[in-house]
Formats: sequence, C-alpha cells, structure tokens
Amino acid sequence: MVQRTYRNPSNQQHGVIIPIGQGRFRAYFIFHHGSQDSLSGSKDEVAFVAGCATAGGCAEWFEGAERIGPLATFNAADRWVADPYREGVVLIGDAAASSDPSFGAGLSLSFRDVRVLRDLLIANEDWLTAAQSYAREHDRYYGSLHQQHDWARELFFQRGPEAEAKRAIALPKLADDPSRRPDVLALGPDAPSDEFVRRRFFGLDYYKRIIVAAIR
Ligand SMILES: Cc1cc2nc3c(=O)[nH]c(=O)nc-3n(C[C@H](O)[C@H](O)[C@H](O)COP(=O)(O)OP(=O)(O)OC[C@H]3O[C@@H](n4cnc5c(N)ncnc54)[C@H](O)[C@@H]3O)c2cc1C
Repeated sequence: MVQRTYRNPSNQQHGVIIPIGQGRFRAYFIFHHGSQDSLSGSKDEVAFVAGCATAGGCAEWFEGAERIGPLATFNAADRWVADPYREGVVLIGDAAASSDPSFGAGLSLSFRDVRVLRDLLIANEDWLTAAQSYAREHDRYYGSLHQQHDWARELFFQRGPEAEAKRAIALPKLADDPSRRPDVLALGPDAPSDEFVRRRFFGLDYYKRIIVAAIR
C-alpha cells in the first residue's frame, strides 16, 4: 500500500496511513476535539478502525493487521512562544513552537531551528546578536507556517453553517485545481502565504494578479 490521505468533509474527520517499510504502517485518525472520546490502548483498537472508516478510509484495509506500537490520542493544537530567546536561553524545536501534528511539520521545523541557529552562531562573534536574530527569524517562519495551517483548519475542520458555506465554494475549486492549495507540505513556511494565495485557497479569487509591462 502507498501512502493514503483521506478526508470526510461531512464530519471534518481525516486520516493518513504512511508506509514505514518492512510491511509496517503508521495510521492516523484525526477528529474534532470533543466530538468523541479519546482512544487509548488495545481496548480501543476496534473504535480506531471504525473511526478510520468514518473519516473516509476503509475498515477492510486493517484486516489481518497487528498493532505493534502504541495507540494514543494527542491534542493537535499549536503551542508557541513569541520571541524564543531570553536571558541566555534559546528555545528550539517543540519547546519554541509545537505545530499541530496533524499537518506533520514539527520535525522539519525543529531541524530548521537547529540550522538557522547554527548558521547565526557561526556567522556572529556576538552570540547575543545571533540569539536575538534567531528569535526574530523564528517568529517570521513559524508565523508563516502557522498562518497556512490556520487556513487549512478553517476550511477543513471548522464546523457549522458558515464553515459549510466556505467549503461549498472552495472544495470543488480545489478538486478542479489542486495548485490552489499552498504547497505547505513540500515548502513549509517558504510556501507563499499572501492575500492572493489565501483567496485562491478559499476559492474567492475573483480578481487576478495584474502584470503590467512597461514598454518604451
Ligand atoms: C502524534 C504526533 C504525530 C506527529 N507526526 C509528525 C510527523 O508526521 N512529521 C513531523 O515532522 N512531526 C510530527 N510530529 C511532531 C514531532 O514529533 C515533533 O515536532 C518533534 O519530535 C520535536 O522535536 P523536539 O526534539 O523539539 O522534541 P521531542 O522529540 O519531544 O524531544 C524532547 C526530548 O526531551 C526529553 N525530555 C523532556 N523533559 C526532559 C527533562 N526534564 N530532562 C531530560 N529530558 C527531557 C523527552 O523525553 C524527549 O525525548 C508529531 C507529533 C505528535 C505528537
């Protein structure tokens, strides 16, 4: 089986199955906070498979499967610190910003923190300047990632008539043209996240970028 990502827009549930080699897979079932009980341990295996099915997957995919790792529920909220440097202490990784794990960006963000901080420490004799620059840069790139995850949360996970109306406009356009979705999985915080991109994602792009050429 290749990686499967599926989503049920009618209940805002969502699932991912990722092959990790040697006939093993990691399976995720993502549901709205408070919409059902947390799942944990072997007593909830049946409920987990049923949940994957209501999320748009298929219970038959799990036939004959054996659980070899923990089954646990996590609160998929973003938590972050603004300006992650103070008094000689720099925060990196989840300590600086733990991004919603349902978008799968946390480890890349942690590696980026390490790279950015390393480069600044090497480039600056003055480590106070390096640490302050890191904190500013972290605010910028985590802010961009957070913004894009917020759009996806708003479109795919929010509930109620207003959210349904947004989906009725956006989802058919996204199905017709997947490039409307910012490529945050591949580009992370570097995916463009301006107002033009937001409007295309939500299917509200009734204006277009205007390219003006100056001709002598
Ligand atoms: C369910 C789930 C799914 C995820 N899926 C993805 C994914 O698909 N892709 C992705 O990129 N990211 C994913 N993430 C996020 C990713 O796991 C984290 O962003 C990443 O592990 C953060 O690395 P870290 O080193 O900052 O923190 P951690 O990996 O949490 O490491 C911190 C370590 O410090 C140890 N520690 C804590 N306190 C102390 C102490 N007082 N003394 C000594 N040691 C201590 C902990 O035991 C731990 O080993 C997921 C997270 C969750 C919860």
